[in-house]
Amino acid sequence: MKALVLERQGELSLRDIDLPSDMGPTDVRIKLHTVGVCGSDVHYYTHGKIGDFVVNAPMVLGHEASGTVIEVGKDVTTLNVGDRVCMEPGVPDLTSRASKLGIYNVDPAVTFWATPPVHGVLCAECVHPAAFTFKLPDTVSFAEAAMVEPFAVGMQAAKRAHIAPGDTAVVLGAGTIGIMTALAALAAGCARVLISDLSAEKLAIAESYDGITGINIRQTSVVDAVAEVTAGWGADVVFECSGAQAAMNDLFRIVRPGGAIVFVGLPPDPVAIDISAATVRECRMETVFRYANVFDRALDLIAAGKVDLKPLLSETYPFDASIEAFDRAAEGRPSDVKLQIRVDTESEAP
Ligand code: NAD
Ligand code: ZN
Repeated sequence: MKALVLERQGELSLRDIDLPSDMGPTDVRIKLHTVGVCGSDVHYYTHGKIGDFVVNAPMVLGHEASGTVIEVGKDVTTLNVGDRVCMEPGVPDLTSRASKLGIYNVDPAVTFWATPPVHGVLCAECVHPAAFTFKLPDTVSFAEAAMVEPFAVGMQAAKRAHIAPGDTAVVLGAGTIGIMTALAALAAGCARVLISDLSAEKLAIAESYDGITGINIRQTSVVDAVAEVTAGWGADVVFECSGAQAAMNDLFRIVRPGGAIVFVGLPPDPVAIDISAATVRECRMETVFRYANVFDRALDLIAAGKVDLKPLLSETYPFDASIEAFDRAAEGRPSDVKLQIRVDTESEAP
C-alpha cells in the first residue's frame, strides 16, 4: 500500500510498504479521507525521536485521521459500511489495570499510531478496533473530524481542570494545543480565557474567537495582564501549553489561591518549578497525557455548534504533496495552526 514513510530522521518518501491488514471480529476497515500533520509527526521527521521513542525502522506517519468504514468485523454492532468516522489513535489493552480504572491513556501497553514502532495512517486504508472508531454526525466534515484528535488533548485538559461555570482561565502558549485547550475551557464553562504567546499571528488566530483575549508577552507580562483582569486575585485555572521554562516561572504568580495548574506542554528537558510558591497557595496540579473517553464528547460539541475548529485549518495538501506539507510544517510558519493531507483525493466531501 502506498504510504508516507519516514525512512529515518530527515528522510520521507511516498512509496509502497507492507502494512498489517488482517481484520479481527471487533475491527473495522477504514478508507482514510483526511489526516492532520501533528507536531509529534514533524518532530520524528526532524529529530528522529521523542524522548525514549526512537525511529529505528521505516515508519508510516500520521495519527489525526478521518475516513469511511469499508468493512466491519463479524462482531461489530456499532458501525456499518459507509459510516463516516474519526479514530482514536491509541489502543490500550482493554483488560489492563489502567483500562479497568478508566485511565487507558496511561496504560503501559497502549499502542499509538505513528509512535515507534507502530505505523501511522498516512496511507489508503487501515484496520482499527470499532471501540476506538467514532461515527461522525452528518454536519461534521472529514476535515473537522481529523482535528478531533488534537482537540481531544484540550478536552482532557479541561476535564482534568474541573472547571466551574464562570471560571477565568489562562492558557500559556497559543500553538495548536493551546488554542484547542482554550476552546475546550470555554466549552466547559469558563467565562473568559486569556492566552499568552510571543507570536502576534498565533494570538490573532486565538482572538478571532469570542471569549479569548490574547496577551503578547513581548509587550505585556502575563503576571500584569492576569492581575488586571482578576483585580489581583489570579486565575482559577492555568493551562501550561508552551513547554517553555520561561512560562513555568510565572505559574504561581498568575493562579489564584486554591486554583489549578494543568500541565499540558511537554518540555524536552526537566524544568524547575517553585514548589514553595505553589504550596502557600495550595494549588492543585494536574498533568495531561493524551486523552481518555473524550472523542464522542468532542464530536458532540462540534455538532452542537459550541466549538468551531474550522478557522484553525491553515491549508490542505493532496496526498502526493505530503512531503511538501511536512516541510512546511517543519518550517513552523507563525500563521499556521493545522495543516492537513487529503488522502482520498477522489472524494469531493470536505
Ligand atoms: P507549538 O509549538 O505549536 O506551540 C507552543 C507555543 O508556545 C508557540 O506558539 C510558542 O510561540 C509559545 N511559547 C513559547 N514560549 C512561550 C512562553 N514563555 N509563554 C507563552 N507562550 C510561549 O506546539 P503545540 O503543538 O501547540 O504543543 C504545545 C505543547 O504541548 C508541546 O510541548 C507539545 O509537546 C505538548 N503536547 C502535549 C500533549 C499531551 O498529551 N500532554 C499532546 C500534544 C502536545
Ligand atoms: Zn497529535
